[in-house]
Amino acid sequence: MIKVTNLRKRFKDLVVLDGIDLEVNRGEVVAIIGPSGSGKSTLLRCLNLLEKPDDGIIQIGDATLDAKKYGRGDVYKLRKQTAMVFQNYNLFKNKTALQNVIESLIVTKRIKRDEARNIGMALLEQVGLAEKADSYPITLSGGQQQRVGIARALAVDPHAILFDEPTSALDPELVAEVLQVIKAIVQRQTTSIIVTHEMAFAREVADKVIFMADGNIVEQGTPEQLFDHPQNPRTKKFLQQVS
Ligand code: ADP
Ligand code: MG
Repeated sequence: MIKVTNLRKRFKDLVVLDGIDLEVNRGEVVAIIGPSGSGKSTLLRCLNLLEKPDDGIIQIGDATLDAKKYGRGDVYKLRKQTAMVFQNYNLFKNKTALQNVIESLIVTKRIKRDEARNIGMALLEQVGLAEKADSYPITLSGGQQQRVGIARALAVDPHAILFDEPTSALDPELVAEVLQVIKAIVQRQTTSIIVTHEMAFAREVADKVIFMADGNIVEQGTPEQLFDHPQNPRTKKFLQQVS
C-alpha cells in the first residue's frame, strides 16, 4: 500500500530525513515514535508533498513519485491517496464543522452539495459530533475540533490516513475521546501511520512500531518487540525517558 525508498530531505545544512525506507501493508497501522526534531512530521509531510523531498521514491496506492523527477500531475495523484490529521487541527475558522468536513468533497471531488451534506453528516455521526454540525470551530473544544479534523480526513475516502500527533495539542482530559475515535477508525482496517507520544495507545492499536531518531529509522518491530524488548540503546533510552 505504501512503499517509501531512500527518502531524503534536508533544510539547508540540516539533514532531516537520512534515507528512509518504509513499507506499510494494506490495513496495517504503523505508529512512529521518537524524540522531538527527529523528522517524524517531515516524513509524513513528504508523503503528500506538503514538503518537497530531495531524493527517494514514494509509492502509495496506485501513485508513484520519484523525488528527482515529477510533475504537477504526479503530485495531484499522490495527494489523492492520503489524508492528514494535523496536531493543530487546521480547520477553516470561518466554516462550520459540517462545512469543514465536506469542503473537499465539493471543491475537489465535485460532489453535489446535498449528497456531500449526507456524507458529511454520516461522518460527523461517526466521530460523535452530529449535533455540532452547524457549530464553528471556535465554539468547540479541542477534542471536538480534532474529531472534526478526523471526519474531514475520512471524507475523501483516502487509501491511507496520516496522523501527526493528533492529541498532543489537547488538554489531558480531552485526549481519551480523540484516541477512542482514532482507535475505532484504524481497527476497521484503515491503513494508517500515526505519529504519537501516546505509548500505551501505540502499543494497543499498532501492528508495527517504528522508532526514529535524527532522520533515521533506528528500530522497528511489533509493539511487543519494540516496547518490551528494544534492541538499540537509543530506543531503550528514549523509552526510559517517556515512561
Ligand atoms: P519531529 O516531527 O520529529 O519533531 P520535524 O520533522 O518537525 O521533527 O523536524 C525535524 C527537523 O527539521 C527539526 O530540526 C526541525 O527544526 C527541522 N525543520 C522542520 N521543518 C523545517 C522547515 N520548514 N525549515 C527548516 N527546518 C525545519
Ligand atoms: Mg512533529
